[in-house]
This record gives sequence, C-alpha cells and structure tokens, in this order.
Amino acid sequence: MKLRIAQTVANTEAEGPGKRYALWVQGCSLRCLGCCNPEMFSTSAGREADSAALAQEALTAEGVEGVSILGGEPFEQPAPLADFAERVRARGLSVMVYSGYTLAELKAKRDDAVDRFLATTDLLVDGRYEKTRPEPSRRWVGSSNQVMHFLSERYTPTDERFHRGNTVELRFVDGKLTVNGWPQAADAFRRGLK
Ligand code: SF4
Repeated sequence: MKLRIAQTVANTEAEGPGKRYALWVQGCSLRCLGCCNPEMFSTSAGREADSAALAQEALTAEGVEGVSILGGEPFEQPAPLADFAERVRARGLSVMVYSGYTLAELKAKRDDAVDRFLATTDLLVDGRYEKTRPEPSRRWVGSSNQVMHFLSERYTPTDERFHRGNTVELRFVDGKLTVNGWPQAADAFRRGLK
C-alpha cells in the first residue's frame, strides 16, 4: 500500500528501546507549536513509498529489535502503516508509534484501519507536543502531558532502558546534518540554523 514518508533511518538508538528502524511519515494536521519536524506538516512534501517495501527494508536492517514510526502524524495514514506494522511484527520486530492524538481520541474515531494499527502497536507515545511543558525525566517522551502506553506485553515500564537519560543522534541525511531523539534538542538545533 502506498504512503507518504519523510525519511527513514535503518538503525537508530535514539527513538525507542534498543536498535530500531525509524520511519518518519509525511503530513500532520495537528501543527503543535514547537514541533521539531515542521517540514513534515505538508502532505505533498516527502516521497511516496510502499508499505511492503518499507517492511522488507526494516526486516533486513542489521540487528534491530523493532521499528519506530514517527512524524508527521502516523494515524493520518493508518491503513498502509497498519500493513507495515503487521508485516514487521509477524517476523518478530516490535512496533513503537508516536502520535499527536491521544489513545482516547484514536479509539473514538471508530475507524477499522486505526484499530488495526493500534492492535499491532506495542508501545504508543500519545498526545500533542506542548512546548511549555517539556518532559523533565521520562525517556523518549517530548512533553509532560504525553503518555507512554504499553499496549502489549512486549515491553514493561520496569525495563531499565526506559529509565536512562535521553539520547541525541546527529547524522547526515541527504547531505544535511539532522538531529533526532530529543524534541527540545532537535527544535533548538533547527532554530539555531535559521
Ligand atoms: S509534534 Fe507530532 S503531532 Fe505535533 S505537529 Fe509535530 S508531528 Fe504533528
């Protein structure tokens, strides 16, 4: 199935537990103030990709324990992402998703594709990013209003990896220096470039 994506990173340790294949989707209508990825708001930027091909890429990425799906807003393209998540999870990878919608909002949509995507999600970080409420301690969470939901038994809150400090990664993507792993750092870095 076709979807719109911004970028992928085959192997990161900054976007969830362990080594992960990260997929940033393109397009978000929520437009939180201070979002570290405003270039991913537009639904016409980025590139088209195929969910089966992305799953194959994730499954052949070396040493990853799961995928992380970020954005952009993943639940604005639920059908192809449910397909992607089902394919990688069937082969043993875990699925972590960051959404600006709360879990209650997603359930209230009563949308089959949203429900399928949620059913294949192990870890969900939910809620709008609130710049005035930076998260002081929890790893992989941008602002203190956001909740990390353990939707399966794959991970537990007692996993010691959830209690270390945040990780920031710098990398060159298409010739440009990018920051990922910590919204405040990424936002500060982006503003510093202007
Ligand atoms: S923080 Fe997430 S939900 Fe908010 S505008 Fe950025 S991509 Fe969208």
